[in-house]
Amino acid sequence: MTQRRPLIAANWKMNGSCELVQAMSDALSQIKTSNEILICPPVIFLAGFPKKSAYKLGGQNVSNENSGAFTGEISADMLSAAGASYVIVGHSERRALYGDNDAMVLAKALRAVSANLTPIICFGETLAERQQEKTFEVIAQHLDAVYAAHPELLATSVIAYEPIWAIGTGETATPEQAQAVHEFIRQHVAKYDVVESEKIRIIYGGSVNSENCTALFAKPDIDGALVGGASLKTAEFTAICLTAQD
Ligand code: PEP
Repeated sequence: MTQRRPLIAANWKMNGSCELVQAMSDALSQIKTSNEILICPPVIFLAGFPKKSAYKLGGQNVSNENSGAFTGEISADMLSAAGASYVIVGHSERRALYGDNDAMVLAKALRAVSANLTPIICFGETLAERQQEKTFEVIAQHLDAVYAAHPELLATSVIAYEPIWAIGTGETATPEQAQAVHEFIRQHVAKYDVVESEKIRIIYGGSVNSENCTALFAKPDIDGALVGGASLKTAEFTAICLTAQD
């Protein structure tokens, strides 16, 4: 079986401060792990992190345009120039609050790749969809929207499964629920490319913390986590980073 390097990604959302940048970079410089660690702070804080470090930096969103009259937007090249090597696309908050749909997410992912950024493509089901037993159907639709047209993205992206009902709610999918969806994603991806399906990292997001991460990371198809609230606390986040095993 392919060895996939766990990725532990922090999504600070619209939170953080220069003090947190300092505290997090100090804390991360003191831990030793072979896992890949990624911090996605608000863009303004990217420059506050040291240029050379063992962890990576990313954006939380990117424009689907290259440049021009797009007030408030930031391009993939700009993120790259600011030190990012990853960018989150399609986070459920972007989809719910700013109208990002699958077509937009695909366009953003392609822009990211053209600027040498790795897109972390997020999707998940709502509580109503889960209760109606539509989870796999919804996930397959999201996957098809991105990868059926562009299977080459498999080699250059990360998938984040984030059940919407578990984001910021304190409610986590059980390791079994998460594993079932991750396994489904991998099997579905195999329809496009069997080799890439074994290589692609599928990370879980939804109220991950230092207590529930051990059981999640023990599942064979869970290759790390996208961490929101718990990534704002240095001790919590470093504990999660140290828990994942490769
Ligand atoms: C997220 O924002 O991607 C997330 C998973 O948040 P939280 O960990 O707070 O649920």
